[in-house]
Amino acid sequence: MQNTKLALVTGANKGIGFEVSRQLGKAGYTVLVAARNPTLGEAAVEKLRTDGVDAHAVELDLNRQDTIDKLAAEITARHPHLDILVNNAGITDRTDGPPSNASLAAVRRIFDTNFFGTVAVTQAMLPLLRKAPAARIVNVSSGLGSLTLNSDRSWEYANFKPLGYNASKAALNMLTVQLAYELRDTPIKVNSADPGYTATDLNNNSGPQTIEEGAAETVRLALLPADGPTGGYFETAGPRPW
Ligand code: NAP
Repeated sequence: MQNTKLALVTGANKGIGFEVSRQLGKAGYTVLVAARNPTLGEAAVEKLRTDGVDAHAVELDLNRQDTIDKLAAEITARHPHLDILVNNAGITDRTDGPPSNASLAAVRRIFDTNFFGTVAVTQAMLPLLRKAPAARIVNVSSGLGSLTLNSDRSWEYANFKPLGYNASKAALNMLTVQLAYELRDTPIKVNSADPGYTATDLNNNSGPQTIEEGAAETVRLALLPADGPTGGYFETAGPRPW
């Protein structure tokens, strides 16, 4: 399959990743819909194709390096390059909690996916992204990853301090800043997106935003023009404080 414009979205079988895939497909991209469960990936692709998107299911588990390496090899064999990487897959954990009593095992599990897994996928895809004319990397972060907002006692989510999740997103933001710096002399742009509180399975569908609203900033950052920012952290309303 020789691509024209190719996007890879992790954790794309549902929630925000599914909607990001739909919107990038509508924008003319061939979308690799990555899921750790191939059956769920195929089901998502079926829905996206019904909606007119050129979608293809690929297996990717952020906790399994073999699936990461295999996918990078498959893309390399079939496509000249990768134009967009959306690092969307992420987890919470019900035994995460405040610093005094968060389960250490939960904090490790969250970091394994939200940070280490994302670093592993990014490193594996970077050679393909470097070959694209002007690749974009979007790390789907959260306002909860902001040290500034976590320090603000009047912030509306000041009470919500699960250590593992918030720290994993702060670490992800560090990946954004450092990678953007490392790639500063290339056309590649790397940014963090805060989707905003969105109704998905991640929060038992409690968020006030729809997945369309939750996907919007990630899609904007994935489609940035040449004069767009890199190394930034944004919600739909504008820049987020680190
Ligand atoms: P979601 O509906 O639970 O979707 C999460 C996706 O990540 C699912 O496809 C899930 O796959 C996948 N995933 C989890 N662990 C994985 C792994 N090890 N390997 C590969 N895929 C994995 O949640 P969402 O709300 O759309 O979350 C998407 C991103 O937005 C996350 O990074 C989250 O932290 C971020 N975010 C969400 C909100 C919000 O309010 N919803 C706010 C801020 C940031 P399975 O279906 O197999 O579990």
